[in-house]
Amino acid sequence: MSFDTLGLSEKVLQAVAAAGYTEPTAIQKGAIPYVLEGRDVLGIAQTGTGKTASFTLPMLTKLEKGRARSRMPRTLILEPTRELAAQVQENFEKYGVNHKLNVALLIGGVSFGDQDKKLDRGTDVLIATPGRLLDHFERGKLLLQGVEILVIDEADRMLDMGFIPDIERICKLIPFTRQTLFFSATMPPEIQRLTETFLQNPAKVEV
Ligand code: AMP
Repeated sequence: MSFDTLGLSEKVLQAVAAAGYTEPTAIQKGAIPYVLEGRDVLGIAQTGTGKTASFTLPMLTKLEKGRARSRMPRTLILEPTRELAAQVQENFEKYGVNHKLNVALLIGGVSFGDQDKKLDRGTDVLIATPGRLLDHFERGKLLLQGVEILVIDEADRMLDMGFIPDIERICKLIPFTRQTLFFSATMPPEIQRLTETFLQNPAKVEV
């Protein structure tokens, strides 16, 4: 099976070819069509399975339609650590080479100045750790009512790190009509319960 049959845009397919990928991984085959359809997705997959492309590629396809570079970003990706957030940003840049998108990385441990400038210029995609995202919100720097797609990545690590109350707060700031993509390597009962809070009729993809 090739990437061509999944419904991705031409620009995204060109970037995938440039990255040297010939065949989608299992999580990509499973999740990409559902993301493009607009379904909520519960993905049970570890890092290393191609999970990042399973959400970034269809998100890029969807971002080709509609408004761009606004004070109200259309997509928000939450990651538990700065390192993972930075990796997702690198992926967005690699797969989004043919897109003129503004991607803001909002992580702790660095000053607010550069992140503020980026937000002031307008963004399409926010990639954030939960604490720093809320810091920006509280400083009045962020409008989240325009978020159409929310990704909660590495949910089991978010739980271990105590981020669930922050994520619950963030979800209340985003329209209920959003599409939510939720990924976890494991599914303990606590995570199962969270999927019921955060997702609506999700398509489950397990690899
Ligand atoms: P991830 O699970 O998202 O961290 O991806 C793991 C690695 O697999 C990354 O280095 C990607 O560049 C690579 N990768 C993702 N999708 C594919 C694919 N379809 N074919 C080959 N490599 C891939």
